[in-house]
Amino acid sequence: MSEERLRAVRDRVRSFPDFPVPGVLFRDISPLLKDPVAFKALIDLLEDHLRASFPRIDVIAGLDSRGFLIGPSLAQRLGVGFVLIRKKGKLPGPTESISYALEYGKGCTEDALSTLQAELEIQSDAVEAGQKVVVVDDLLATGGTMRAACELLVRLKADILECLVVIELKALGGAAKLEAIPFHSLLQYD
Ligand code: AMP
Repeated sequence: MSEERLRAVRDRVRSFPDFPVPGVLFRDISPLLKDPVAFKALIDLLEDHLRASFPRIDVIAGLDSRGFLIGPSLAQRLGVGFVLIRKKGKLPGPTESISYALEYGKGCTEDALSTLQAELEIQSDAVEAGQKVVVVDDLLATGGTMRAACELLVRLKADILECLVVIELKALGGAAKLEAIPFHSLLQYD
């Protein structure tokens, strides 16, 4: 049953070479979102995993932008709230922000992109100290984005239960960058 659902999800991920820059094999979840059966299978799998892993979850935090496509559906299933971790300049009011090296394409192109800086923000009142948070995104590549998001949540004194993604690009070793923070992926690609 779970294998079947996993296959339904995997079958709806397509790959585009050299997007958005040469050397990157882009994993596109658009077909997954477009197919209600496959998308339901995805949310079922994520919900089952979280219910089996954690007795209590207070908040799902989603990463800009494709984490926003998955997180709210999952949060609704679990009966918890959803909060946004956004790219710089999108969130009103007091925020925490963090700058980090954007490594998109690094190791493939070794071009100037590997030294670009990116910035993530969270509203200062997004989570309360001690709240149990699961961080969700579509994909983990180098892990830099997820690690920066976790740093923001740590500053707000959240208790990070897990970083959860649909797709993990194993060869880039992103999970190691998260160090002690638990990590789970549904699909793994080399
Ligand atoms: P990273 O910080 O390197 O782990 O990159 C993760 C973020 O970049 C996620 O929000 C992904 O949506 C996006 N991303 C990185 N590499 C890819 C890829 N090969 N295909 C699709 N999205 C990617």
